[in-house]
Amino acid sequence: MTDSNRPVQHAPSCDDDYQPDTLSVDAAWDRILQDITPVRGVERLPTRAALGRILAEDIHSTVNVPNSDNSAMDGYALRSGDLPTEGDTRLRVVGTVLAGHPYDQPLLPGECLRIMTGAPMPAGADTVIPQEKVERQDDLIRIDSAHRAGQDVRAAGEDLAIGDRVLAAGSRVGVAELGMLGSLGLVEVSCRRRIRVAYFSTGDELRSAGSALRPGDVYDSNRYTLHAVLTELGVEATDMGVVPDEPAAMEQAFADAAGFADAILTSGGVSVGEADFVKDIMRRLGEVGFWKIAMRPGRPLAFGKIGRARFFGMPGNPVSVVATWCQFVKPALRHLMGQTIRRPLSFRVRAAHDLRKRRGRTEFQRGILERSADGELLVRTTGGQGSGILSSVSLANCFIVLPHDADSAAAGEFVEVQPFHGVMG
Ligand code: AMP
Ligand code: MG
Repeated sequence: MTDSNRPVQHAPSCDDDYQPDTLSVDAAWDRILQDITPVRGVERLPTRAALGRILAEDIHSTVNVPNSDNSAMDGYALRSGDLPTEGDTRLRVVGTVLAGHPYDQPLLPGECLRIMTGAPMPAGADTVIPQEKVERQDDLIRIDSAHRAGQDVRAAGEDLAIGDRVLAAGSRVGVAELGMLGSLGLVEVSCRRRIRVAYFSTGDELRSAGSALRPGDVYDSNRYTLHAVLTELGVEATDMGVVPDEPAAMEQAFADAAGFADAILTSGGVSVGEADFVKDIMRRLGEVGFWKIAMRPGRPLAFGKIGRARFFGMPGNPVSVVATWCQFVKPALRHLMGQTIRRPLSFRVRAAHDLRKRRGRTEFQRGILERSADGELLVRTTGGQGSGILSSVSLANCFIVLPHDADSAAAGEFVEVQPFHGVMG
């Protein structure tokens, strides 16, 4: 067993001030990333099909974008030597240049050309005066001295120049990246293969939609949550249903999943005091550490390997699934997909009211970020923070991350928030 596969209870960390067998959020994050090696498989894909995929190669530009100097405005192209230093001057309009139609004559002193946005600059011209800044009469324009040599021209290669590394291997192809691949004229790109993720819920109390609830039963929401997040992530996901709390069924499900999946996600059955056979099975089938992470919600997390598949045993409580997904499992899967990952964006804002918290664990409270009447960004909680209250996630637009060593925060104090969504996918 490699050091990183060793159950983490036996790998003390300097962060474990409060409970010696509890792992801090940062230590768990580092550990997961250290332990996972990205999948190797690569495929060539038509550029559009690369949306949401991870680039397996650096992309270098083979063209200049734009490929020649061109006009940034609708106006008149001229030689900067003809700009008056004082008073005004008149130039003769000798033709029109449209986008996609280069002008084949050099521009001579005293001449100018009507030019449209995106049209290539004619030889000799280096400056564009917007049409609203000139007076035109017949084939003459009059310009004053309030202009600058070189203005309103977009230089060849000013966006992407030949030879530039424009995207690095490990980048996820999102909105801007797909547009950039398009601007380079690429027909195909190399991407990491999609990863296969199997997931199931555990628990005798779980019912699937369409069946009736008996007292004490709950509808399985975690498989819906996981369906949502895995679809968004762009993996090949396989829903394996609900597995009852029975050793044989559990063992079968793990064996089946490990037969085809790169990663197995489960929810439930990893809490302290949970039927110990789960741990026994996992220990027998794989190398799994049962972590107690110093966080709330989401304290228990099983992490390791079953066969060749990475395994993430998430807690059963629906909010804990969301929190452990966002903080650990999603970055871990991104890393497995070959993506270069970063810690989630966070920033500090004032709390709108007191936030209760216990020292010795990181809390991921669900918050609502909004502007106060005087325009300041404030955060308040969604209310009840129980790990079964999934409505707290849907009401929220951010996590309020209260750090390990902090006590409760008072109204007006700065606290860290992680927004759920940005402006672009
Ligand atoms: P466990 O981690 O198995 O002890 O479950 C903790 C709590 O989460 C219990 O109240 C379970 O009923 C609930 N729970 C577990 N799995 C699910 C699920 N898939 N959907 C909704 N609630 C669940
Ligand atoms: Mg359970």
